[in-house]
Amino acid sequence: MSQLHDLTVAELAGKLKTKEVSAVEAAQHFLARGKAHATLGAHLATDEAVTLAQARAADAQIAAGQGGALAGVPIAHKDIFVTKDFPSTAGSKMLEGYRSPFDATVVSKLAQAGAVTLGKLNCDEFAMGSSNENSAYAPAKNPWDLGRIPGGSSGGSAAAVAARLAPAVTGTDTGGSIRQPAAFCGITGIKPTYGRASRYGMIAFASSLDQAGPMARTAQDCALLLSAMCGPDLDRDSTSLDRPAEDFGRTLGDKLDGLRIGIPKEFFGDGLAADVRAAVDGSLKEYQKLGATLVEISLPRTELSIPVYYIIAPAEASSNLSRFDGVKFGHRAKQYADLADMYRKTRAEGFGDEVKRRIMIGTYVLSHGYYDAYYLQAQKIRRMIADDFQQAFQHCDLIAGPVAPTVAWKLGEKSDDPVANYLADIFTLPASLAGLPGMSLPAGFGAAGMPVGLQLIGNYFGEAKLLNAAHRFQQATDFHLRKPEGF
Ligand code: GLN
Repeated sequence: MSQLHDLTVAELAGKLKTKEVSAVEAAQHFLARGKAHATLGAHLATDEAVTLAQARAADAQIAAGQGGALAGVPIAHKDIFVTKDFPSTAGSKMLEGYRSPFDATVVSKLAQAGAVTLGKLNCDEFAMGSSNENSAYAPAKNPWDLGRIPGGSSGGSAAAVAARLAPAVTGTDTGGSIRQPAAFCGITGIKPTYGRASRYGMIAFASSLDQAGPMARTAQDCALLLSAMCGPDLDRDSTSLDRPAEDFGRTLGDKLDGLRIGIPKEFFGDGLAADVRAAVDGSLKEYQKLGATLVEISLPRTELSIPVYYIIAPAEASSNLSRFDGVKFGHRAKQYADLADMYRKTRAEGFGDEVKRRIMIGTYVLSHGYYDAYYLQAQKIRRMIADDFQQAFQHCDLIAGPVAPTVAWKLGEKSDDPVANYLADIFTLPASLAGLPGMSLPAGFGAAGMPVGLQLIGNYFGEAKLLNAAHRFQQATDFHLRKPEGF
């Protein structure tokens, strides 16, 4: 039998169901791996007693023949989802040691399906970042090269899956935070259509963009998790969509004959590194072999997605983060003269540099006299970006391109240069601004043997189609099976 940690979620779920492996054994195995690889920095919190209690409950359910689709499967959550049994920090000192009185909807939905929680995973502070270096704790490292970043903001999530510390995990994507770290760590991740997964209990960054999704090694596993995570939550999330839960794996295996894949010419310009381009081109050829046709399309406002996102996201963040005032949650300054001084000191101590930068930018673009020039203008262009996609989808069924312009960079390489980080988000931001589903799947290897991701973008509610396209590719290639050395 292959090692437990090399099994996919689908394989492990099968062995749990037939009692070949118990949930407690699986949990113990992954807890031990987490400990053995603690220097990777993937985890922010674990609690063996809690995990094992959940595993025993899963075993009891399986024994009673009542286990859900993920009965006994150990998973870990990005530390942006609140959990009542583990601390929830959002990677921030502001929430150090914070305990939520309730579980996020996504967390409880996965628990209902039988998943066992291994712990909480490292991320950039309040999900702001592209490298995990904005975590107020220590950055997670990339299992393919411990001197490189795992990507962000769901960097701990991606590192945990690539290093086989969990068969699957949750992440969130506001401007690329599932797709980019998945690409950098050689795994698969999907962000569904905005509104599909409830935002209840997801510590808010930019509410009109934030969306939860799964990260795993295969598209099939992502389909399993996503099916459990989505569904209406109308009473608790005002942007939740009133669409029933779906089996996103229902079309897995369908042939791709006649599938039209749109190739946006703006995604293949000068800024794209040659090694990434070569891997992406190679995977597009593979799609042609699988029966798809490639159609050139244009997303003319791709470049504008950077200034538009970096106005809208900070604007929303500045408003969302006003709740961290030292009164309601988490950190409070020890010494202060009066209420205003308490707010000031609490926020100065609790937030890191990037979070402060975004609060200042957001407050500025929303202020009287600048609102029309920046925020309103950005909203108008956001609408045009969404319209550009609808134009493109008249000529194709899916869109494909790179996830990021380069492979994962070295730790520290861009940590003093926020703009360099922002620019690297260029290919993930457009789908985020349009609220479209997008995914990343392993497409090969580039410079220094680092993984390269292929991005697939679907039209609204096209998750099943995306996942099938990725699944077919994974049946024909083995990039998703490669494993970083030492894990
Ligand atoms: N890198 C982007 C940012 O820093 C996206 C982050 C995200 O998707 N959470 O905002």
